[in-house]
Amino acid sequence: MKKLVYLSLGSNLGDRGKYLHETIFRLGDLGVIRQVSALYETQPVEVHGEQPWFLNCALAMETDLMPLEFLSRMLAVEQSMGRIRTQPKGPRTIDIDILFFGNDVLDTPELTVPHPAMHLRRFVLEPLAEIAPTLVHPVLKRTVRELLGSLPADSGLVNKLQPN
Ligand code: ADP
Ligand code: MG
Repeated sequence: MKKLVYLSLGSNLGDRGKYLHETIFRLGDLGVIRQVSALYETQPVEVHGEQPWFLNCALAMETDLMPLEFLSRMLAVEQSMGRIRTQPKGPRTIDIDILFFGNDVLDTPELTVPHPAMHLRRFVLEPLAEIAPTLVHPVLKRTVRELLGSLPADSGLVNKLQPN
């Protein structure tokens, strides 16, 4: 059965825009990309030490894959983009997080959806609100726009880049 999956992509190492675009292209093997947000430059939060700013975006794609199959193929895309896990929370060429997998609610060692921290992250919610403001979080029962509106003011700077 087809499900609509929402992803958050981030890069803060090397040619960030190129990594994001190439990752979106490769994710096309896992389903049909329906929507992609603009790119947002975001202040690093929840990471170790001084780090470059991130480039983030959100996308929606339709897939026939089951959640764990989707996750393993998605992690293979991360690997193929040269992501090497040196230290947790360290700089990365590409990070892909599953925000929503249809209305599924899963809590397993490999996969938690909805993503457990997404509702606390401005760098996730701003791009997501651009493409899906009225989408309802299946556990919190609030829209993406409402979740964004509830964030504290000091939850990291996020600047939308104008497409050129
Ligand atoms: P982080 O994103 O916190 O920096 P990683 O990208 O290294 O950490 O992810 C570590 C693991 O998180 C992945 O191998 C995956 O199994 C697990 N994981 C659990 N839930 C999710 C989710 N919703 N999206 C992406 N990965 C997830
Ligand atoms: Mg990740």
